[in-house]
Amino acid sequence: MTEERESLRSGIKLLGLSATVGQENQLLAYLTELEEANRSFNLTRIARDEFVTLHLLDSLAALRALPDSPNLRVLDIGTGAGFPGVPIAALLPGSSVTLLDSTGKKVRFAVAAAQKSGLANVLGIHGRAEMLGQTEGYRESFDAVTSRAVAPFGTLVEWMLPLVRIGGVAVALKGTGYREEMEGCEALVSRLGGGKPQVHSLLLPNTGIERFVISIPKVASTPKTFPRSK
Ligand code: SAH
Repeated sequence: MTEERESLRSGIKLLGLSATVGQENQLLAYLTELEEANRSFNLTRIARDEFVTLHLLDSLAALRALPDSPNLRVLDIGTGAGFPGVPIAALLPGSSVTLLDSTGKKVRFAVAAAQKSGLANVLGIHGRAEMLGQTEGYRESFDAVTSRAVAPFGTLVEWMLPLVRIGGVAVALKGTGYREEMEGCEALVSRLGGGKPQVHSLLLPNTGIERFVISIPKVASTPKTFPRSK
């Protein structure tokens, strides 16, 4: 077994998740697509030997905060090179994952690379979260909205919560700075229809890196005035 597959397999186990060999193949194929495309345009600053941990396992940490249902509609805001959306799609083949990014070529890369890797449940939208959040058919429609490394907490909740259906959840992946970012945001979260945020901390497998999965239940409708346009 390659070293990469081994660390993926053990990391998935450490996260309390499981994947078939076919799903491992899809995830590793996606990394190869990313490495290749990254030679011609800048998609990630992370080197291949850290892809498994910093892209795949970090993304998969979001799974434990998602609703326990096999067929979710998930939106990943500011997906960039496809994280956390694509790894989530690989482990939830019965769900559909929509990748949103304001940079068209990133969305095009991620959707094409996911298809080449054998994923049939990934869709892409080139656009901005604050516009999609005001678009009929998308607003308050997703079971879960995810996001990693896109904006500070206060901005992020305004982009995420309007897109979550009542009963669904917004899930943000954050580093240690999350506490300061969340300070003073209670009123905004509640105004947006969010319930009490839950913070789950974990150590990324095989690293000392501490990560925080912040999930906010959508408990009430978001007022029409949100998200405000930037
Ligand atoms: N989530 C990825 C990429 C993070 S970089 C990862 O963790 O690896 C942030 C991405 O958010 C960029 O690709 C940028 O184009 C996108 N972005 C920034 N503002 C946005 C907005 N308002 N709507 C949609 N995408 C946005």
